Amino acid sequence: MSGFRRPHEAVDYDALTAQLPPPPEYLETAYLAGPEEIAATQLALAQARARVAYEVPFFRRRWDDAGMGPDDLHSLDDLTRFPAYTVDDIRDSIEAHPPYGDYQGVTVNQALDEPMRVYMSGGTTGRSRPTLYTAWDREAGAILTARALYMQGIRPGDVVLNAWAYSTHNGAHAMDEALYRWLNCVVLSTGTGNVTPTRKQVELAVEYGATAILTTGDYLLHLAETAREMGLDPATDLKLTALPNIGDKGRLNDTFGVPVYDSYGFHEVQWVAVECPTGEGMHIFEDAFIVQIVNVDTGELLPDGEQGAVCITEIYKTGSPQFRYNIMDLSTLHPPGQCACGSWLRKMAPFAGRGDNMVKLRGVNIWPEALGEIVTDVNGVTDDYFVRATRSGNRDEMTVLVVSDRPPGEFDVIAAATVERLHQVVGVKIGVEVHEPGALDALTGFGTAAKLIRFKDAR
Ligand SMILES: [Zn+2]
Repeated sequence: MSGFRRPHEAVDYDALTAQLPPPPEYLETAYLAGPEEIAATQLALAQARARVAYEVPFFRRRWDDAGMGPDDLHSLDDLTRFPAYTVDDIRDSIEAHPPYGDYQGVTVNQALDEPMRVYMSGGTTGRSRPTLYTAWDREAGAILTARALYMQGIRPGDVVLNAWAYSTHNGAHAMDEALYRWLNCVVLSTGTGNVTPTRKQVELAVEYGATAILTTGDYLLHLAETAREMGLDPATDLKLTALPNIGDKGRLNDTFGVPVYDSYGFHEVQWVAVECPTGEGMHIFEDAFIVQIVNVDTGELLPDGEQGAVCITEIYKTGSPQFRYNIMDLSTLHPPGQCACGSWLRKMAPFAGRGDNMVKLRGVNIWPEALGEIVTDVNGVTDDYFVRATRSGNRDEMTVLVVSDRPPGEFDVIAAATVERLHQVVGVKIGVEVHEPGALDALTGFGTAAKLIRFKDAR
């Protein structure tokens, strides 16, 4: 059959590993590249991606409107002149061209020649947002994920539990591919607590000597709690040597006695950045991405050090481009320079909340995740929270639902202290409700969702 290529025929593995060295080689090669080499690589790859993006209707339409074309990218500074887009533009594209939108760089009709996978994000309300990944994109994404997992402490040959949801979402699959294909790890594909009950997950981790359990930091702490109920010590009976779990770094470290390194990624572009042992910022995989920080309201480029929305351009794919995708995650770029670890790769600050969750409350910009950080520091309040925005008359109101493990008789005092603390820090009055442990699980999706939901806009 002509034009029928299997995945192993569709990827030039020598070219792939030359362009994106996997770990551990990565740390001796691209991780230590100098600033000129990084910039030259980025420009060449971005120019190639611009040419591909311009063949995609979604990008061509927007670039034509802005009077821009792929030949206008002469330097990395020119990137800012290309129009950015947000998830709202993606949604519009899908509504107009269901179900794939017109932003994909490949179509399913090419699947015989270009083996591909589709993963989706969103979709609890409205249509899911699909991304088509070519075989190259899968392997490249797996290498990026393998780099992050390695830098967070996973070593080739380890036994690892993958307790993410194997679903229509990319996350669990990308990690599985990284572990199996690029780190030779032995994966126990347990999935979430709905698939493999929590006690069973603990038993498997102990029996098989797992060195890491891939899941949210919150669920890992819940696993530790369950281990204690089973008479086990999470720090010694579990043999974890890596914590690639996003969550409360201090509590994770205290519970397992293993360092925690922040990382950042999202499903369309896969893994973007990971913290180095200095613990000061996450190095961006700059042979795969160009990260810009832009003003949440205007989209204008912000100076280094100012917090804004992450606007990302991938430069490693062959399929669906993401060219100046304003993902509306909040972060900050560190100034350029060589890190104490030896790397010149630009660093970004950990995820600081969602730009599009911003609620303007009596003239003050408020991000729900920032409220979460404040309330969970209050005495008597645990790490769980949920923020709700409502409309009362013609003004916005916010209520933070917190959890306390103290006797309910103390809830009024804890609520008053939390209201007072929020008012001190934020400067406006925000309501507080205190709940018993577990009461917020249905709202946050604890134990079932890959990413906890912390905010509902009910305005
Ligand atoms: Zn570093």
